[in-house]
Amino acid sequence: MTSLEGKLILDYLKKNNLQYFLQHTQKFPPKKRYHPKTTINQEAWLALKDDPIPEPEETPIKTCVFLTNNKCSIYPVRPMSCRAMVSSTPCHKTGHAAMTSFQMSVATLFYQFIEMLDINGDYGNYLDILEVLTISPETQSIQLILVKSFLLKNQRIYQVMMPPEHRDELIPIMDEIQCIFHTKT
Ligand code: SF4
Repeated sequence: MTSLEGKLILDYLKKNNLQYFLQHTQKFPPKKRYHPKTTINQEAWLALKDDPIPEPEETPIKTCVFLTNNKCSIYPVRPMSCRAMVSSTPCHKTGHAAMTSFQMSVATLFYQFIEMLDINGDYGNYLDILEVLTISPETQSIQLILVKSFLLKNQRIYQVMMPPEHRDELIPIMDEIQCIFHTKT
């Protein structure tokens, strides 16, 4: 997620006295977390240049720290990657979500604009983002230095990732996003 999304989550935790969730981040030490190698907009830039896109790290799937009794504890402020995750079949039966390529294209469009909305922010594992936002920069702890080293800088959109077969349906969605984007920025 982006640091913008992280700030929304932290505000929500504070307003609802749920800060204790932040202690759960310690269940997963930084070196054992999944760390993206590119942001979405970096990926689009690499694709534009026909450069190889780094393969994602293989990390064991872990349960999200915000999942309580099979419910999301931060549902109103969950990150976009959670909002965009839909499945046409119950995930517990197969272990993964069944998404169409069109749903993936719509999700990617939103990810690209959210990254640009947070252009001065960071991008990374949700636990890394939350830790960097909560550990005071003055502490300069080893943990903070380590976690910061895993974060990537958000990028602007160089190219919208829009497969030709989805273009007609995606363009009106992108126009709507751009309208919202321009009224907010
Ligand atoms: S919706 Fe997202 S934030 Fe909420 S429990 Fe699931 S993975 Fe975690």
